[in-house]
Amino acid sequence: MSEFPPYPSGLRLAGRRVVVVGGGNVAQRRVPVLIASGADVTLVSPVVTPAIEGLVPEITIELREFVDSDVEGAWYVIAATANPEVNARVSRAAEARRIFCVRADDASEATAWTPATGRHEGVTVAVLANREPRKSAAMRDEILVALREGVITATHDRTPGVVLVGGGPGDPELVTIAARNALASADVVVADRLAPRELLDELGPHVELIDVAKLPRGRSASQEEINRLIIDRALAGKRVVRFKGGDNFVFGRGYEEMLACAEAGVPVTVVPGLTSAISVPARAGIPVTHRGVAHEFTVISGHLPPGHRDSLVNWSAVAQLRGTVVLLMAVDNAAAIATALVAGGRPPGTPAAVVVEGTMPGEQRVLTTLGALGADIAALGLRPPAIIVIGDVVAVANPDHYG
Ligand code: SAH
Repeated sequence: MSEFPPYPSGLRLAGRRVVVVGGGNVAQRRVPVLIASGADVTLVSPVVTPAIEGLVPEITIELREFVDSDVEGAWYVIAATANPEVNARVSRAAEARRIFCVRADDASEATAWTPATGRHEGVTVAVLANREPRKSAAMRDEILVALREGVITATHDRTPGVVLVGGGPGDPELVTIAARNALASADVVVADRLAPRELLDELGPHVELIDVAKLPRGRSASQEEINRLIIDRALAGKRVVRFKGGDNFVFGRGYEEMLACAEAGVPVTVVPGLTSAISVPARAGIPVTHRGVAHEFTVISGHLPPGHRDSLVNWSAVAQLRGTVVLLMAVDNAAAIATALVAGGRPPGTPAAVVVEGTMPGEQRVLTTLGALGADIAALGLRPPAIIVIGDVVAVANPDHYG
């Protein structure tokens, strides 16, 4: 029987009864995929792992030994116990009813095999390497990587519209898979200064790259120009990726672009990114929370100094908080902000850190205190982009420095 290759087929299991016998590691791996396919899963086993138990009510569990009638009415059966005799019994019960059944222990006796599978943008990849599970898994991995990296590109969504893509803090390794896919599908990429630039080298020659850093200066004027640009291209049938550093909705004006697109009837998709507010401190070894040290962290834009008439920040309220304060765009106003926080009650000895160009080749880390923050930034000539972290988490991460 086994000299013939298997006949591949995609089972459509939504709403159909599938019986899994066994409650250990094999079942634990198989059941989530069955749930994802919409199958009506009944699992039979006298004992199950806590992870499987946690899948109720998405599946039904019968905590008892298998009986032949369990497979009654099933479309598909998986024999995944640690006991070959039980698996053989399950297999026989299924075969007698002409139900396909996979066996975890002995593929040669089974009527069906489980391929190594993965999904990428709505495409399911399934590999059967003639009962060599390691080989099929390795092959599956290579295919998925090739799909993600755009080596195989037939599957990309090229629907016209705008995709707002967060590029993470700067290190190209820290973009999401969704961000990579979006870039690979783009006709036009509109990139900010802080978006991870290395990735732009990978764009195909047909892709129009618009560097926003090179547009005429002036905050609101250039934002209007960006809105017009992305809308015009999308209405012309292009797939436009708006590529920014960190997350587009954290001081990234992403929602302004979304509203402008909505008004123009342009469809928008959002690909969240790893915000620098959390990831830059993390890479610098500083947790924004730590048990028993900080029960909150507050992320604040420091682009306006305290007391500025357009400021929306209640600095004296911030000074009263005990947790971590993370400042973005605050290099120029750091001294004034520190003064306001100390005036509001934060001790000047509160540990503080400045991370310049976090996760990038030129990264620079400076440890200081709230009281010395402004003077240290000036003395060292620190320039944006920088994240400033204020709070005891900085000392927890650097006990030697703060003794
Ligand atoms: N949307 C971005 C933030 C945009 S505001 C995000 O979610 O990360 C720009 C500010 O972000 C910079 O002035 C700086 O304070 C911070 N920033 C972004 N990337 C940074 C990096 N790699 N290192 C240090 N600070 C960074």
